[in-house]
Amino acid sequence: MKIRIHHLLCMQGFQDKGYNEEFVKNMTEVVNIFKNDSKTKVTIITALDSICKCCPHKQGEICVSKGEEYNKERVEKEKRIAEFLDLELNKEYEIGFLFERVNSRICNQRIAKQLYCDDCQWLYCCLWHQGLEE
Ligand code: SF4
Ligand code: SF4
Repeated sequence: MKIRIHHLLCMQGFQDKGYNEEFVKNMTEVVNIFKNDSKTKVTIITALDSICKCCPHKQGEICVSKGEEYNKERVEKEKRIAEFLDLELNKEYEIGFLFERVNSRICNQRIAKQLYCDDCQWLYCCLWHQGLEE
């Protein structure tokens, strides 16, 4: 399965909220696959992924949630997350290893916001982000 790297953060804070019913159903299925088997192989990418595929903001191969320029900025942020986590893009890893790496390196809210979460609309309810120290 292909996963956009910032979704390694979001999946851990997911609580059945999302852009629409189809999106929530699909994301629940993806998250459950990983919950049931931490050895599931995942290729980390910066492009749209198995979660984006049912998102109303997906337009062709890009995310238009806040426009094309914003999408380009976000792709650069995805690359910085990979660098920060010392992970190779387009490489396959076990999901359990990836979650451990995220949680050991992104150890507070300040880092999470700098890396990606700064203007996320789900910040107020994201369990993963709320679980981090300030
Ligand atoms: S705050 Fe938003 S971007 Fe950050 S992990 Fe949670 S859902 Fe993802
Ligand atoms: S808002 Fe964009 S990045 Fe987030 S799930 Fe939808 S298409 Fe993917």
